[in-house]
Amino acid sequence: CGIVGYIGRRDAYPIIVNGLQRLEYRGYDSAGIALFNNDEIKLCKTKGKVAELDLKCKSEINTEAHIGIGHTRWATHGEPNDINSHPHVSNSGDLVIIHNGIIENYESLKKELINRGYSFSSDTDTEVLINLIEDVQKNEGVKLGKAVQVALNQAIGAYAITVFDKKKPNELVVARLGSPLAIGVGEDEYFIASDASPFIEFTKNAIYLEDGEMAVVRLGRDVRVREIKNDNLV
Ligand code: GLU
Repeated sequence: CGIVGYIGRRDAYPIIVNGLQRLEYRGYDSAGIALFNNDEIKLCKTKGKVAELDLKCKSEINTEAHIGIGHTRWATHGEPNDINSHPHVSNSGDLVIIHNGIIENYESLKKELINRGYSFSSDTDTEVLINLIEDVQKNEGVKLGKAVQVALNQAIGAYAITVFDKKKPNELVVARLGSPLAIGVGEDEYFIASDASPFIEFTKNAIYLEDGEMAVVRLGRDVRVREIKNDNLV
């Protein structure tokens, strides 16, 4: 399973597809991509190989974008199919997530969210996490980084995640606990990946998150790394 993200001036799509291909060795059963362009999040996902995903995306969506995230999934909750493939979008349609790992207490979190009016289209633990982040953002009126932090402090499990908010299209929020995550730092561009192989041709400058760390990766400013458990926020 693997994670790739890009934010900058280059064409995001080929960076993400090539990156996912380099992470294929990690194993997976399905794959997907979200691209942001013209105020819209475009999703393309499929059970099967990255090569199949590439064909599907090229025929179904306009792949032009300078921001995007991609994922190879190794299913733990919910069978491998197109709907359960990542990325997953929140109920409002504003937030999108890719996740490697497991949210162990997803059932109780899901029940609480359903009681608060949320609905779910997949069987994944991941869709619970993105709606929890949205719920925190709405109830507490906090920035995305803080909302991700508060939500992760309610989650039990393991993860490498990347979250995008279409209301804040110049940043990606990432976090790691038990699954690797690297940030490639370029000139006015950032790369996210499970290891450096997707971005090694673009930059040698990498930040490897430690377990329990998160970062707000925003264009035009340095990466801010924080501890997930530390209240003193991003
Ligand atoms: N638990 C998540 C799922 O089943 C992520 C699996 C993964 O690590 O790819 O969708």
